[in-house]
Amino acid sequence: MALTLSTKALNVKPSSTLAITAKAKQLKIEGRDIVGFGAGEPDFATPKNICDAAVRAINEGNTKYTAAAGTLELRKAVSAKFKRFNHLEYSPEQIVITNGGKQGLTNVFRAIINQGDEVIIPAPYWLSYPELVKLAGGVPVFVYGQKENGYKVSSEELQKAVTPKTKAVILCNPSNPTGAIYTKAELEDIAGFVVKNDIFCVSDEMYENLVYTDEEFVSFASLSEEVYKHTITCSGLSKSYAMTGWRVGYTGSTLEVAKRMSAVQSHCTSNVNSIAQAAAIEALNGPQDSVEKMRKSFDERRKYMYERLQSMPYIECARPEGAFYMFIDFTKTIGMDYREKDLTSAAEIAYCLLEDYDTAVVPCQDFGFPNHIRLSYATSMEQIKKGLDRIEKFLGELSDD
Ligand code: PMP
Ligand code: GLU
Repeated sequence: MALTLSTKALNVKPSSTLAITAKAKQLKIEGRDIVGFGAGEPDFATPKNICDAAVRAINEGNTKYTAAAGTLELRKAVSAKFKRFNHLEYSPEQIVITNGGKQGLTNVFRAIINQGDEVIIPAPYWLSYPELVKLAGGVPVFVYGQKENGYKVSSEELQKAVTPKTKAVILCNPSNPTGAIYTKAELEDIAGFVVKNDIFCVSDEMYENLVYTDEEFVSFASLSEEVYKHTITCSGLSKSYAMTGWRVGYTGSTLEVAKRMSAVQSHCTSNVNSIAQAAAIEALNGPQDSVEKMRKSFDERRKYMYERLQSMPYIECARPEGAFYMFIDFTKTIGMDYREKDLTSAAEIAYCLLEDYDTAVVPCQDFGFPNHIRLSYATSMEQIKKGLDRIEKFLGELSDD
């Protein structure tokens, strides 16, 4: 047999958010003054009490394999957090500690998808969802949110995408890339759809702590006993605790689903790094003031950035209520003239911004919206000001002929 590769692997697109960020970092090393609006990664250091817990774990010899699903102590800490923050009862046995939110989602799709099963993904979506669904043998089915409704979808729109093969719907709340947050009434509408069609809801709540409205965050599974049974709640520490490199995520689900996910993980990676698990216990059980401090900084940046973007020509930006992204419609610039060529896509705009203005942004073709650009405001105010000045200058160069 020839050295052919797996069709599934050949069909996977590499993560463009990570690629753009890597490129921006490389250009910085080469001496360019790059402003990075790329990957959603808090610019803050991991809080000291969390780092200290990791050092203690090393010194105390906490360096061995743990249970594949995570230490009991950490699963207890997650269980307590689910109760305290999300009003959800997940026993430690219903929790799986994963290598970042990404492995949580990977486990979910491997646990629930049979070859050809369809998973409804509201668009715009975080770019890894379709790839993870395909890797598990599933088929992504996209339902496009409308700008007028903050790019959120309703049960009516979702229902049109249902077929006998529909297995699940993914809900990203707060949303990456739009920053939109579903109200309780909107969640109830979708919950009715999930229960009626007897499908899973994969509720990705990675940004649950980064909410800037006065409303309390509502976890999908908390809506009712029936909804709880249909939901797999996914989250992690990467964003809320500035712990992207530590790789700690988790899922809460029914015991049946948790057992399958734990079995899958026991063969793929075993447990999450034991030192990172010890640090995660401190993150969840220790003081939470750093989380609030970071949230407040993100909120200041969000307000500043939104105001500035509103005043710029040609572009339209949805007002984000959570997470740390601005999702910007560049449609009006498509076809405009920039340095004697016509702009054809957001990908081309992103290229020009990086090459000519030293500004890294994420073009959203891999999020299902090829005329949109995402900016992360998980970077300092100084960088944000500098980057926005550059984008404004770029827009000033555009003309209609
Ligand atoms: N879900 C969403 C919506 C995300 O934006 C991300 C990005 N990091 C993840 C999950 C995965 O997070 P992690 O870095 O913990 O794997
Ligand atoms: N989730 C972040 C983002 O959307 C980090 C990069 C990634 O994992 O895709 O930028």
